[in-house]
Amino acid sequence: MNPFPRAEISSSALQTNLAELRQQAPTSRVMAVVKANGYGHGLLNVAHCLVSADGFGLARLDEALELRAGGVKARLLLLEGFFRATDLPLLVEHDIDTVVHHDSQLEMLEQTELAKPVTVWLKIDSGMHRLGFTPEQFSTVYARLMACVNVAKPIHFMTHFACADEPDNTYTSVQMAAFNTLTTGLPGFRTLANSAGALYWPQSQGDWIRPGIALYGVSPVTGDCGANHGLVPAMELVSQLIAVRDHKANQPAGYGCFWTAKQDTRLGVVAIGYGDGYPRNAPEGTPVWVNGRRVPIVGRVSMDMLTVDLGQDAQDKVGDSALLWGKALPVEEVAERIGTIAYELVTKLTPRVAVCLV
Ligand SMILES: *Cc1c(COP(=O)(O)O)cnc(C)c1O
Repeated sequence: MNPFPRAEISSSALQTNLAELRQQAPTSRVMAVVKANGYGHGLLNVAHCLVSADGFGLARLDEALELRAGGVKARLLLLEGFFRATDLPLLVEHDIDTVVHHDSQLEMLEQTELAKPVTVWLKIDSGMHRLGFTPEQFSTVYARLMACVNVAKPIHFMTHFACADEPDNTYTSVQMAAFNTLTTGLPGFRTLANSAGALYWPQSQGDWIRPGIALYGVSPVTGDCGANHGLVPAMELVSQLIAVRDHKANQPAGYGCFWTAKQDTRLGVVAIGYGDGYPRNAPEGTPVWVNGRRVPIVGRVSMDMLTVDLGQDAQDKVGDSALLWGKALPVEEVAERIGTIAYELVTKLTPRVAVCLV
């Protein structure tokens, strides 16, 4: 197998980040969010490194089944719940918790016959208006779930924040108040906080926090960086130089010839491109880390390669490694240059990138 490009996943970084979050939310349990293949870090890699997490949050039933097949015993929660009535017996068989956010799910629960009741987290729409029951619907829905023999008691409660990554945005307080008004005093767990909630809104930590991105060592906040919170990036995306070339002033490079060198220089060609999930729209100047320094991307990112300007006196050689993001070059910084968020970069790597635990 070609060793490049590859995403090296640090098990010690994942463990450090879990410990750091526990310290910052000392009275909460941790539901480690590992949807989207562990945010691109490898679902089982992450689950096995984080065996001490209290539970795992997932988007899809098949992800939960993969964890169970991989020997994971912890609590598992489907964050969007089940999609079909035929999913329900699997939830029972494999002891998987489900969110209930919609009438259609409630009806399926009421109309089925199960060997055992399923554990339900009732999702409340406290203001994000994506999933969940409104405060007006809450008491009816809660009563129906309480009356349903297929629902284990107590019922747990969940909500999700729209703006917790903006530390000055008071909308999070409005959402917390709405959720607390409905759920305070009821039996069952309460969970509100994603990474941004856990890091920036300690009053939102509740019985369980649900961190995703922070566990991978990345800050949820634009312009911020995981290291500012004691977090360590868990992914190093590395490739190598496959060509180093002298390049003349005024000569173009790459598809479309839209970049031309202002002066004589040396260009490096790095073996990674949009076919690996490195965004094609990365603009000129997006940094790549080569031999201890940032060098700028020039010209267009192509499918298998991108070009960097190493500078006139560069000593870099074919075979030298190139870091696209990682400890020396935070993915948050790269994402900001590209006009996206770190979440998208780490989750969009394609299967061509080898993901290996180190
Ligand atoms: C993805 C997700 C999370 C984790 O969000 P981060 O911002 O990555 O911490 C938490 N809760 C729910 C419901 C989610 O869908």
